[in-house]
Amino acid sequence: MALLITGGPLYTPRRVYDPGAVLLHGGVIRAAGAVGSFPTPAGAETIDVAGQRIIPGLIDLHLHGFGGHDVMGPGLAEVIRALPAHGSTTFLPTTVAAPLDHLLEALQAMAKVLDEPPVGAQVAGIHLEGPWVSPVRSGGMRAECCYPLNQPDVERCQVAAHGKVRIITLAPEEGQALAVIPWLVEQGIIPSIGHSDADYDTVSRAVALGLNHATHTFNAMRPLHHRDPGTVGAVLDHEAIVAELIADGYHVDPAAMRLLFHAKGVDRVCLVSDAMFVAGLPPGEYDWNGRRLVRAAETSRFLDGALAGSAMVLNQMLRVIVEKVGLPFADAVRMASEVPAGVLGLRKGRLAAGCDADVVVLQDDYQPSLTVIGGQIVYREGRTRI
Ligand SMILES: [Zn+2]
Repeated sequence: MALLITGGPLYTPRRVYDPGAVLLHGGVIRAAGAVGSFPTPAGAETIDVAGQRIIPGLIDLHLHGFGGHDVMGPGLAEVIRALPAHGSTTFLPTTVAAPLDHLLEALQAMAKVLDEPPVGAQVAGIHLEGPWVSPVRSGGMRAECCYPLNQPDVERCQVAAHGKVRIITLAPEEGQALAVIPWLVEQGIIPSIGHSDADYDTVSRAVALGLNHATHTFNAMRPLHHRDPGTVGAVLDHEAIVAELIADGYHVDPAAMRLLFHAKGVDRVCLVSDAMFVAGLPPGEYDWNGRRLVRAAETSRFLDGALAGSAMVLNQMLRVIVEKVGLPFADAVRMASEVPAGVLGLRKGRLAAGCDADVVVLQDDYQPSLTVIGGQIVYREGRTRI
């Protein structure tokens, strides 16, 4: 049955219709625009959202866990179920550096979940954040679990993951990374620079070979100096690179975020949560593979105070972009939907005819009241008027 969501400001790629409406049928968007600008088929279910914002489903390319569950195992199923209530409709479960046998086991467990996924957010592949990164820039990951890259290890991971590896975070200066980048691109795997100590010239060589993505820009990267632009300078300078940004307001200062937007434009930046399993849990101290994590109101940290991933997902990052950084809400939405959809080559992330019917209705507090994935209502909150 067709579904019409109507009665709130509607965010299409290039304009806002207020009040707008979007018509979904057969899993795709049939029409989107001003209320009354297209016919509604007889018998369509209509949901009037009473002034709440209608946006595309959010797409998170970098998420480690949520609600007490880590994605590196069967807990992935619970994360899939939990995310729609927070506006994320597609995501890439993301691994952390681990001994290779442990990583292979985790990928097998993840692939098992993904072969028969539960109802919830869609998984568009797996993001391997390491282990082929620089021990010098390991950040929250264990330096002893960072290895030089070689193609056979990647192939073993891809077999364990039933071919679902989609992004690999790597340090181009380590191992055979530069030689492997063209092969990754051929395999449809996106090479992403991250946890890297590469200088500007090494990044430029990687870009010439096909590197086009950067993992949580600024964090765990050789920083920018005006006589040594480093990894950060190269990410800012190379238009080919889409830059991930952890927009929780703690990983990157709002002024540095604005510099990133000035350098690249919002069309080349995608918001990522980097959420840990403590996101969605109450504040407190938690165990993470033998390490203690302190989850405060808005952060996740190790006992020494270093940030350990984030404690928010994308809907709350929209608020940070608007309230702390000062960008328009429409730009925040684009960086969390249209841009990551473009990275993955998906017909998602836009409220436009022909795109997948992934729609979120946001209340003033940035919590969804309604989440639709592939045309099916997967989350509905009591305050929506139906
Ligand atoms: Zn991460």
